[in-house]
Amino acid sequence: MDYCPNCATQLSLKIPEGDNRERYVCDGCDAIHYQNPKNVVGCLLEWQGKVLLCKRAIEPRYGYWTLPAGFMENNETVMEGAAREAREEACAESEELNLFGVYNLPRISQVYLMFFGRLKNGFAEAGEETLEVRLFDEEEIPWDELAFPVVVESLQRYFERKQQRSQQVYLADIRSRPGSRLDIVRHN
Ligand SMILES: [Zn+2]
Repeated sequence: MDYCPNCATQLSLKIPEGDNRERYVCDGCDAIHYQNPKNVVGCLLEWQGKVLLCKRAIEPRYGYWTLPAGFMENNETVMEGAAREAREEACAESEELNLFGVYNLPRISQVYLMFFGRLKNGFAEAGEETLEVRLFDEEEIPWDELAFPVVVESLQRYFERKQQRSQQVYLADIRSRPGSRLDIVRHN
């Protein structure tokens, strides 16, 4: 953040009175521009025992496989956001969405809320941010070509949960960078 969105004055980084960490402060209008974590919502959609993945047509991680997911929009609920991402990235309608995993990504100040659901009619095709969509069974998952650690963790949990016939909602902290060794603390 360089300039104040209110008055275009150059911002400075300092600790405001009564606070305990640095903020972007405007010396023009005295506004304090707080930066807080962002919510990312996504879904893992299943059709006849297979999982829907999308090959990314955008950076970061162009050409790698991901679950439909993205930043929440204002005025929507987390479930609406997850359904919207499936529609935008995979032209897919989702049914029976249920919360499945909450993932803290403190390194990049994001919180992921992942839903599990059914892919309506088994239909999907590439949306604007997607090169290709495909349904994978467990043996076919391209583990080395997954875009983000949160996608790896969501898929691993999905297959575990399926085996255990569990309905548990998982909470985990993910600190690894994309493409590097997984660094995950599972809380349940
Ligand atoms: Zn200002």
